[in-house]
Amino acid sequence: MAETRSTCPYCGVGCGVVIESEGEQITGVRGDPDHPANFGRLCTKGSTLHLTATAAVTMQTRLLQPMRRTQRGAKPQTIGWDAALDGAAEKFAQVIRDHGPDAVGFYVSGQLLTEDYYVFNKLAKGLVGTNNIDTNSRLCMSSAVAGYKKTLGADAPPACYDDLRHAQCLFITGSNTAWAHPILFRRIEDAKAANPAMKIVVADPRRTDTCEIADLHLPLQPGTDVMLFHGMLHLMLWEGWTDAAYIAAHTTGFDELKRTVRDCTPERVAQICGISKDDLLEAARLFATSAATLSLYCQGLNQSSSGTAKNAALVNLHLATGQIGKPGAGPFSLTGQPNAMGGREVGGLANLLSAHRDLANPAHRAEVAALWGVPSVPEKPGKTAVEMFQAAADGEIRALWIACTNPAQSMPDQATVRRALERCEFVVVQEAFSTTATCDYADLLLPATTWGEKDGTVTNSERRISRVRNAVRRPGETRDDWAIAADFARRLQAQLGSAATLFPYADAESVWNEHRESTRGRDLDITGMSYAMLEAAPQQWPLREGESAGRARLYEDGVFPTPDGRARFVDVAYKPVAEPRDARHPFSLTTGRLRDQWHGMSRTGTLGRLFGHVAEPSVQMHPQDMARRQLREGELVHVTSRRGSIVLPAAGSTDVGLSQAFIAMHWGGEYLSGRSSTGERLAGVNVLTTPAFCPDSKQPELKHAAVKILKA
Ligand code: SF4
Repeated sequence: MAETRSTCPYCGVGCGVVIESEGEQITGVRGDPDHPANFGRLCTKGSTLHLTATAAVTMQTRLLQPMRRTQRGAKPQTIGWDAALDGAAEKFAQVIRDHGPDAVGFYVSGQLLTEDYYVFNKLAKGLVGTNNIDTNSRLCMSSAVAGYKKTLGADAPPACYDDLRHAQCLFITGSNTAWAHPILFRRIEDAKAANPAMKIVVADPRRTDTCEIADLHLPLQPGTDVMLFHGMLHLMLWEGWTDAAYIAAHTTGFDELKRTVRDCTPERVAQICGISKDDLLEAARLFATSAATLSLYCQGLNQSSSGTAKNAALVNLHLATGQIGKPGAGPFSLTGQPNAMGGREVGGLANLLSAHRDLANPAHRAEVAALWGVPSVPEKPGKTAVEMFQAAADGEIRALWIACTNPAQSMPDQATVRRALERCEFVVVQEAFSTTATCDYADLLLPATTWGEKDGTVTNSERRISRVRNAVRRPGETRDDWAIAADFARRLQAQLGSAATLFPYADAESVWNEHRESTRGRDLDITGMSYAMLEAAPQQWPLREGESAGRARLYEDGVFPTPDGRARFVDVAYKPVAEPRDARHPFSLTTGRLRDQWHGMSRTGTLGRLFGHVAEPSVQMHPQDMARRQLREGELVHVTSRRGSIVLPAAGSTDVGLSQAFIAMHWGGEYLSGRSSTGERLAGVNVLTTPAFCPDSKQPELKHAAVKILKA
């Protein structure tokens, strides 16, 4: 039996695994005892990974050969790699020649490895000349990115997992950590057991499993987080709990913010957020007066039409109380996907460039063009996720390349996404699994390797970069994502008449070396982090050439990566959700993860045992709301928003507030059918969700839609 150290492909905790294999078959998996993210532990998803890679599952679910559809709706036919990629290059070149580079788009994934992401970004921005490359990380972390940049000056989570051992107060907001980041939650339980005096506050509209460990649960109304944070700051000022010396020495902009939070009185906050004044005061006291306060947050803050404001308002609290830059303190965004961080590092979003450079900065564009050996990179921001599919639905984007993600289930407003995929002249889907809904819309399907088969790196929530390693040979005709992108790029280059050698990579390491050189002198400088170093142990960035270890936490010297070295208070106004509930749509629908499923279930859905926790979709409602509508437990209901309707059983639960409803995000096609408001057959909860997005981060409000619920 062979053993290969790698990383779990699911959530952003980034647990290390040891893959056991015999010949070309993965036979087992266990936690890597030496990996600093998990020290040998794995959750239900991670510990069953090997069962998702059996020969039987591979045969039933994997895309193993390139396939082409001669017409939409037809059964795809196998095709050779050369013909597939030559055909794709011809089609993309034709669209670019006829309609310009912005007529094509690339929609990629926070589940790609950093090397894959790097090549796609260079392909779009360096070769094609469009910034139309965005990713499902837009649905995940873009509000955290914008929040960090506005306040602290760089997209860099300042804390680390070890801070849990030092924190005296944990403020968990917009995160069901117990289910979404289970191994991190084990560390929270350990920290509480070791230090029972540590206080835990959880702010969440639902009473989730995470609340079980909380000293205080704030069941705020969905979308009212900014008002909650402003109300806490109002009380901190009133009670004299802010840190005037820290504010004076290390920040700017506090006076403007003070004027805004003056109006956020306890009475007003209690009324808008739906919590008691006493609980608000207690939350403010615990946060401000503890020796070290660490905030953990995720999609409850990010997936919002006020996502950036929510992030900034939370960071404001840390700056106002000096709860940052010391052990156990700081704002700490938990990454949803395994490599949303790595994607941000290579600039794989429509508004970013490599190594945290900004598209809007001419010097940064020139640096990236020089690094890549191209005349320029385009200035015009690309289309972000929601904008990209809207542009395709409008006929503005004519060719789409989708890699390692399933927008036909995961994007909000599914009716528009379907129109986009149907209207596009040419859709390429590069995927490991043939079972995703998006595959049905592909003109060309390209088979990609996946966990256990591919090689590269990922970055977890605490800026720690780990190696991902292949334990077995690639099955069928699958290829690594970076290699598919590079091969296509070389052929497209020939079509476009360019002779430069832009994609010379022999392996993932050669891509990595180009990427790490691009970070020289930047805040995330990893010029000292070679594959050889990562063979020994995962490392946190920054790690500059000549250094032997990365940095556990940032800003300990009180100096921030802003022009004047000071962090910035951001004066943000509270805005209600984009679609408040009303008489016609009287419920607030929130969505979220289950403990044992991942995304659209293309991998976890292959294992019966992972349905033991939750066997089928349901809409959770408060029992009083069910009684008022004369609904019985398990009775089928129509849940309807302005965009469409789905049918599923109702389940009573006091974990959900009055006039609120919750549906898990994972269920798609065969489990949860529905229709758009114009009658098209669609599936999954995103039939209902709104494409409204945050004006700064462009992250859509997947966490709230107004719905009605009626007997089916
Ligand atoms: Fe994988 Fe996340 Fe579970 Fe760790 S906590 S084993 S990274 S799913």
